[in-house]
Amino acid sequence: MNYENSLDYAKQLDREDSLAYVRDEFHIPKDKNGKDWLYFTGNSLGLQPKQTQQYIQQELDDWAKFGVEGHFEAKNPWMPYHEYLTDKMAKIVGAKPLEVVVMNTLTTNLHLLMVSFYQPTKEKYKIVIESDAFPSDRYAVQSQLNFHGFDVEEGLIEWKPRKGEEILNIEDLEQILLEQGDEIALLLIGGVNYYTGQYLDLKKIAELGHAKSCIVGIDLAHGAGNIQPNLHESGVDFAAWCTYKYLNSGPGSLSGLFVHEKHAHNKELPRFAGWWNHNKETRFNMRQPFDVMPGAEGWQLSNPPILSMAAIRSSLDLFDKVGMDALREKSEKLTGYFEYLINEIDTDRIKVITPSNPKERGCQLSIQVKNADKNLHKKLTKNNIITDWREPDVIRCAPVPMYNTFEDVFQMVAILKTLL
Ligand SMILES: *Cc1c(COP(=O)(O)O)cnc(C)c1O
Repeated sequence: MNYENSLDYAKQLDREDSLAYVRDEFHIPKDKNGKDWLYFTGNSLGLQPKQTQQYIQQELDDWAKFGVEGHFEAKNPWMPYHEYLTDKMAKIVGAKPLEVVVMNTLTTNLHLLMVSFYQPTKEKYKIVIESDAFPSDRYAVQSQLNFHGFDVEEGLIEWKPRKGEEILNIEDLEQILLEQGDEIALLLIGGVNYYTGQYLDLKKIAELGHAKSCIVGIDLAHGAGNIQPNLHESGVDFAAWCTYKYLNSGPGSLSGLFVHEKHAHNKELPRFAGWWNHNKETRFNMRQPFDVMPGAEGWQLSNPPILSMAAIRSSLDLFDKVGMDALREKSEKLTGYFEYLINEIDTDRIKVITPSNPKERGCQLSIQVKNADKNLHKKLTKNNIITDWREPDVIRCAPVPMYNTFEDVFQMVAILKTLL
């Protein structure tokens, strides 16, 4: 793209943007003078779709009206409520409906998946994560190692960037597997790294891991609704992601879970059980021996929390209307413009650590600012620019194609420039 560094040009891109109308579907937070914030933290908490209130209100009304009968009598009967989310969620991550379910929260699901897919032996027990893994994922795998009686120091292997670099190199993972593959039971990797925004090649990771008989699991918290991960095709064994980041489903909302079709009918996999992963047909006979459901639904434990799911349903309907292909197309252009403008700032203090290849990133750019401290972040916030600060010196910014504009990006970089 040949971009131009001017407000007029940014406005022109907004006029030409076929998804510009979608911004109106969202509540955009404002300052006290009523001016829209420049919101770049959709990677942390996505904004609220206006229609979400209606979706939740529907369930509150039906609860008021029907009480327990709402399980059958509600406009959207609650009994199978999680099923309303499955097809659209599967489409977003490139999976078959059999492979996807929405349930629990992300870290909980990672543990439930490891109950099934982390089956260490004395010889093969190590776990590989990225050195910049999200803390919750690191704690989760450390506690799994402990739980199985292994030493965390020995059992946890970090896939690190090379000296002086920020980005992971697939050859280094290959090397780890070459040297220690026989001792490695599980790879648990962030599909899009939360810190650098790097989008890893899931298919390649799955191939490398499987060649050494390792299970491959992916945390897609920063991928779902951002990139198009084609989970089924990638061949990874399992994945999980939250829905409150790019999927705009509200603070602390539920998680999506993927288990590849190749495991869908394996009743021998160890797993925890509850009434909701028991065969639907006989669930309410109550006295039946446990009979696990096929597919991702076979990992559920509890009946679905309707109010949270109503918010997810609202968001997924919006994603379905707009379409991931169109979102991704705008996203590449929007983030490309953002990157271009940052590179136009005449200073050696700034470095974008996110890969410059659009195929290796989603919408987020992580900007490293030499000699900066948290004051810079505070000043940005004072100027109504909402970003995310990562010690020691990185600003994470996610222009989200659903609701961010080219003008947002232009204004943000203009202010950043004056603050430097
Ligand atoms: C946001 C995020 C989490 C948060 O987990 P919760 O269980 O939803 O609190 C975990 N892992 C990654 C990689 C994340 O980005």
